[in-house]
Amino acid sequence: MFELSKALQARVKDSVSQLESALTEFKNVCYANSLGPESMVLTDLIWGSAPQAQTALPSAANLSEIEIFSIDTGRLYPETYDLIERVQQRYGRALRFYYPQATDLEGWVGANGINGFRDGIDQRRGCCAVRKVEPFRRALSGRAAWVTGIRRSQSAGRAMAAPVAWDGEYGLHKVSPLLEWTEKDVWEYIRRKRLPYNALHDRGFPSIGCAPCTRAVQQGDDPRSGRWWWERSESRECGLHPQVGFSK
Ligand code: SF4
Repeated sequence: MFELSKALQARVKDSVSQLESALTEFKNVCYANSLGPESMVLTDLIWGSAPQAQTALPSAANLSEIEIFSIDTGRLYPETYDLIERVQQRYGRALRFYYPQATDLEGWVGANGINGFRDGIDQRRGCCAVRKVEPFRRALSGRAAWVTGIRRSQSAGRAMAAPVAWDGEYGLHKVSPLLEWTEKDVWEYIRRKRLPYNALHDRGFPSIGCAPCTRAVQQGDDPRSGRWWWERSESRECGLHPQVGFSK
């Protein structure tokens, strides 16, 4: 049986309460699962009432009504697909996946080549637009609110975030129940509860996106420095703004 510290129990309680409030207020709520460490925590909080999870988190609202989705760009690491399988087995439930539109992808690859994203920033952003941004917009369409796993300590911008805010970019509310969690909290929760996580985190990958565009970083380096390393650093975003809170 897992045991969490008192401080972490308080964090969990607060996050679950935020999720319950969001579900009660907005009803049509989804969670954009990026398959990173924070996502493993949020998935456990949302799906944790499944018997396989051996959880002790009875919830007033039925959090499992929050649909958990992710984006399969088609270029993820094998370890990421393995993680998806392990998550689904643990909870006995399936994530919903959104894929790039086949005709858009065929057109883009036909015009730019299978690895054309390496040819320039415009090409790379074009690939991200087809493989990530369009499916992400489609996933949020018609929703009243979406949940994100951003934390204050991740960046100066995220330090200013509100637990519930209007997301003008996508036209719905954004709920951030892990804002107060530290990285240490996240990993303590994962290890104590023996949650699945991406094996690449143990090989120097702090954040994991598409396989051709993510590599390991040295300890102490900016976690984002392993993304699109062949570009100048100021160009390294994918069209999902860093504040968005869903990053692959
Ligand atoms: Fe394409 Fe790389 Fe962006 Fe993935 S991260 S969508 S492979 S450019």
